[in-house]
Amino acid sequence: MPRSSAPPPAGRTRRPRVVLLPGDGVGPEIAAEARVVLGMLAPDVELEERPIGAAAIRATGDPLPEETLAACRAADAVLKGPVGDPEFDAADVRPEQGLLRLREALDAYANLRPAVSGDVDVLIVRELVGGLYFGARGVRDDGTVFDTCEYHPRLIERLVRRAFTLARSRRGQLTSVDKANVLETSRLWRRIVGEVAADYPDVRVEHMLVDNAAMQLAVAPQRFDVIATENMFGDILSDLAAAVTGGLGLAPSASLAEGGPGIFEPVHGSAPDIAGRGIANPAAMLRSLALLLEHALGRIEEARSLARAVEHALAAAPTPDLGGVSTTAELGAAVREQLALTVSKAPA
Ligand code: NAD
Repeated sequence: MPRSSAPPPAGRTRRPRVVLLPGDGVGPEIAAEARVVLGMLAPDVELEERPIGAAAIRATGDPLPEETLAACRAADAVLKGPVGDPEFDAADVRPEQGLLRLREALDAYANLRPAVSGDVDVLIVRELVGGLYFGARGVRDDGTVFDTCEYHPRLIERLVRRAFTLARSRRGQLTSVDKANVLETSRLWRRIVGEVAADYPDVRVEHMLVDNAAMQLAVAPQRFDVIATENMFGDILSDLAAAVTGGLGLAPSASLAEGGPGIFEPVHGSAPDIAGRGIANPAAMLRSLALLLEHALGRIEEARSLARAVEHALAAAPTPDLGGVSTTAELGAAVREQLALTVSKAPA
């Protein structure tokens, strides 16, 4: 997808741009921690803040205002808090529509969901803009309701290539998950994985049926490195992987585009039940920031330092969702303290 921003003038590099969308509920509380940490780890980044979701509906009537979308298109990455507010549950214009439109507008097709805990380190790479969730749907005259799963080979190939490239940068093992014993789209998927594999001879490939993959993830998650799969299978398997490795509350995600900005966001929602109390766990948001540093800005070292600092802070200053008593700000402070110890070039 072409970038809407003009390239920097020849011979000059512009500062990286990140748009922060705090979102709703606990979003602004956890976004505040991410803003400070980003300033600490990447002080050269230009940070712009824009509304999305319920906050944007209240301000403009639109969950994804034109100015917000334009800023996102022109950025190198989007760091997003959760959206959603019970006030709009029955409304025609809902906060979540802003997120779906943003994903579609940026063509953020590769959804990365890492699940890490102990000896488990799985990266699920889920196709995000095709398949059953986007196929033709409707109601027949006899009352039958249908959704269709459709995949153009191009959509599969770009996702699969991304997954192979990621596997190459990790432990070199790719599990392609499908339902090729039943579905045509899965047979196409399997064929394309086989073709693309020829370009990645250093990556070991296995094909696994989705029902078996679910079982293996539950009983032996440490056997996986990268899992590549289509939209709905990935939706379900990634929540299972998150549950196996500590719960949705801690899980980050990255939704990457081709050449354009990606969207980095926690998997959890806006947690209206605890919003405004300063006790939300900012870990998923900070881990999403680590993914942004790695995948959008190429700052691998800073990303790893942040991931380690979050791990450390979760043990040292857990929030109430983990059985602790720390506030959002206290966990954030513990992360920064740890970073100050480990990042050699941390600015004063
Ligand atoms: P939720 O994830 O917001 O909350 C589920 C439970 O987890 C709640 O008890 C909540 O307090 C807890 N929780 C979630 N995040 C937490 C955190 N960071 N720290 C501590 N506890 C946390 O799910 P829900 O209640 O089903 O959804 C609430 C709203 O969020 C809905 O409007 C939903 O549509 C929206 N939502 C948005 C996204 C997104 O923006 N990507 C994702 C999921 C849900």
